[in-house]
Amino acid sequence: MKGYSIFAGTLADMTWPQVEEAAEANTPLLVPVAVIEQHGHHLPLATDTYGAHLLCTLIKGELANFGIASVVAPPYYFGVNASTSMFPGSLTVRPETMVTVLTEILENCAQWGFRRQFIVNHHGDPQHNRALVQIIHSLRARGVEATYVLGGLIAGFVDLDDPAPFGESAPLSDEELIRVQDSETTGAARARLTRSSLDVHAGERETSLIMRFFPETLAQGVDVRSIEPVPDDMRAFLRAETSGGWRELSPQGHIGDPARAAAENGELYQLEAVDMAAAIAEFLRRQS
Ligand SMILES: [Zn+2]
Repeated sequence: MKGYSIFAGTLADMTWPQVEEAAEANTPLLVPVAVIEQHGHHLPLATDTYGAHLLCTLIKGELANFGIASVVAPPYYFGVNASTSMFPGSLTVRPETMVTVLTEILENCAQWGFRRQFIVNHHGDPQHNRALVQIIHSLRARGVEATYVLGGLIAGFVDLDDPAPFGESAPLSDEELIRVQDSETTGAARARLTRSSLDVHAGERETSLIMRFFPETLAQGVDVRSIEPVPDDMRAFLRAETSGGWRELSPQGHIGDPARAAAENGELYQLEAVDMAAAIAEFLRRQS
């Protein structure tokens, strides 16, 4: 049976000689990183993994327009779900487990020849992001040029300089972090397409992502238009998140306003991928 696969267009669907050839050419490696996590009553657990895979696939296509070949790594989805681990379906590992596994996997790739690695993450949990910072530091210490590409939905609420979510971890340097800015086109589309003010989890944006690109995975029998928004302000969310009270704040699991979702809003993923590819291309040009 044929259908959508998170391996489509990735290294996992290549043969080893194809991998060898790409690795020996030091082809940039795009690394989708996410989790399996509750996404409300209406979205599949794999929403973030689909999002990360989609972004990397779109970025790969855009890089080709710059004449840059790239390879997408198999999506990594055993991340840290400290915030939502009280919901069945949210798989979580300890941060040190994620650091060990992902560092070792990306070291494998570097040993074959993929020494330029771009991490495209689609999960906002602070501990998960702190683990990514550590992964980049340990890869850099081993001579791997690993870089966090921060843009899109995640950039809206992950602040890599904020000592609160990252504790004692040193922030990422300019070599280790690409901050993707909206182009004029993306900024205008964001203003036009975004209808809700608070959109953290399984809200307008991610519901639109699934409606636009993966409609067959929307939960059957759930009327998205009738889902109530949660909560009414950001402070209530931050309080709940830091006190482990996510499920009390949102018994259904979402933080945001899924009822405002529309398939056309999913267009933002395409535009953000264009901006991310342009930023990666510029980064690679500066390195050469
Ligand atoms: Zn998500």
